[in-house]
Amino acid sequence: MFFPIDPGANATIGGMTATRASGTTTVRYGTMRENVLAVKAVVADGSLVNAGRAVRKSASGYDLSHLFVGSEGTLGIVTEISLRIFPAPETILAGHCHFPDVESACNAAISALQLGIPLARVELLDERQIVSSNRYSKLSLPEAPHLFIELHGSAASVEEQREQFESVASETGGQDFSWASRTEQRNALWKARHDVYFANTAYRPGARAITTDLCVPISKVSAIVRRSRERIVEAGLVAMIVGHVGDGNVHVQFLVDFANADERERAFDVISAMTHDALNVGGTCTGEHGIGQGKTKYMLAEHGTAAVALMCSLKLALDPQRIFNPGKIFPAAIS
Ligand SMILES: Cc1cc2nc3c(=O)[nH]c(=O)nc-3n(C[C@H](O)[C@H](O)[C@H](O)COP(=O)(O)OP(=O)(O)OC[C@H]3O[C@@H](n4cnc5c(N)ncnc54)[C@H](O)[C@@H]3O)c2cc1C
Repeated sequence: MFFPIDPGANATIGGMTATRASGTTTVRYGTMRENVLAVKAVVADGSLVNAGRAVRKSASGYDLSHLFVGSEGTLGIVTEISLRIFPAPETILAGHCHFPDVESACNAAISALQLGIPLARVELLDERQIVSSNRYSKLSLPEAPHLFIELHGSAASVEEQREQFESVASETGGQDFSWASRTEQRNALWKARHDVYFANTAYRPGARAITTDLCVPISKVSAIVRRSRERIVEAGLVAMIVGHVGDGNVHVQFLVDFANADERERAFDVISAMTHDALNVGGTCTGEHGIGQGKTKYMLAEHGTAAVALMCSLKLALDPQRIFNPGKIFPAAIS
């Protein structure tokens, strides 16, 4: 058996529950929202709340477990978590291919999902990211947008998925398909993917990394990736784009010379513009990193006054003295 959520960081189960984390395998196995069955939490008056039971379904009362999932530690401290686990797949095949542009890569992922190919991972790395990863992870991939893929299932089903994926991806310009079933080869591919943060910080020594993530309906993902790249170029910035593209989740890592106030301001302006691009097409300001303090300013634009007021009422009902993570999630004016 295995627990599938892979945030690619040294995360704890408590932190992953609190941030409603997800990652490369979400396209197949869901986020923490789908994989937390029940939690126990200590709330502000010191009582231990049994929020739900470890069952696949329940129609009993409010869904308190999921109130804590994604609450970023603002409602209480989660002390016990019951999770779903999955059978380890008989066969795992990982691979990559490249495309003439990011839109073709996104369209291949979308078509594969629309066809019902049960991709376990489908990760976009744009051309700038490939240049950076080649340098850091000692790869020699063509400097073009790539999809990194993983397929799970029986040997026969994985072979069928591979054929279907190659056929779909070829139609949008995918080429140089390369597959690896051996554990060491697969691990090398995913280590390179997980190391993008370190690859990028090494790419521009002295620069500071600013990361942001957005999530849009999957039909909008290629347009958002293209527009984000245009904005980065127009602002004269250095940034790499990766994405859990099967979820519509786009991550951008800016490498910014913090001593240069103008460059810093341009980076934050682009992040703001990209976030509004995502909100304008029905997306969210963060697919997985959470609101924290940095994204409180987008809460009203995303949720509207009534929903944010309801969230504040819940916060104050559970934590009237605001002792849990004050200043997180809500705009300063109302937290
Ligand atoms: C290199 C890198 C890659 C990342 N990739 C991903 C990714 O792919 N997907 C993704 O979702 N995230 C990603 N993240 C973000 C982050 O690591 C995850 O969201 C993770 O869930 C945070 O877990 P943590 O244990 O580090 O929590 P922390 O950072 O320690 O805490 C996060 C928040 O949860 C609260 N919290 C922690 N534990 C509890 C608890 N028991 N009860 C109540 N509140 C609690 C904290 O107060 C804080 O507000 C990445 C981060 C890095 C640095």
